[in-house]
Amino acid sequence: MARTKGYPEALEKKLADTRLYEDERHPEFTKTVEKISMTIPHMCYQCGTCTASCPSAPRSSYRIRKFVRRALLGLEDEALTDPDLWLCTTCYSCTDRCPRDIAPTDVIMAMRNLAFKRDIIPVNFLKTVQAIYTSGHGVPNNDVNRAARKKLGLPADPPTTHRFPQYIKGIQYILDYFELKKNADRIVKEREG
Ligand code: SF4
Ligand code: SF4
Repeated sequence: MARTKGYPEALEKKLADTRLYEDERHPEFTKTVEKISMTIPHMCYQCGTCTASCPSAPRSSYRIRKFVRRALLGLEDEALTDPDLWLCTTCYSCTDRCPRDIAPTDVIMAMRNLAFKRDIIPVNFLKTVQAIYTSGHGVPNNDVNRAARKKLGLPADPPTTHRFPQYIKGIQYILDYFELKKNADRIVKEREG
């Protein structure tokens, strides 16, 4: 299966082409990412400490250092259309260790926000939004977990919206306010019918 399944067809070819084209650089992208992330990718000297700290790197083609470089060079399309953008677990190890005090995690978060604005987002992320809207959890509790919790002497449900469903309304208010659920439903429908 092509690793870019569900993304623009030209992406596979583009990712294979490592040359840098001046006309693909958008300096305003660098500024926008810096503004949203409130961090400083232009200070990156490509030491690689972030990638070496990243738990996703040994298991995938994801390289956080590459995304910081794309932010610095203003390579908007290359950054936002790369499916690896969604492989960060937001563990913040890279941010803890960057010798330049850059927060690569927040660079990724800023890029994800910008990608979502262009409807570039994997369906499983949208389904997480839908699950949060319904239950208050990205991964709702289930019978297997309930049984495991009971075995450990814990209440079957944690003290979250599972035990206090009256608070789901507040979560729905936030997701509605930012039109997250509405957009998630729309994109899922467009992709899956
Ligand atoms: S650790 Fe910091 S300086 Fe080093 S490559 Fe990553 S972002 Fe750049
Ligand atoms: S925050 Fe994301 S990019 Fe940074 S180390 Fe963790 S998984 Fe990797």
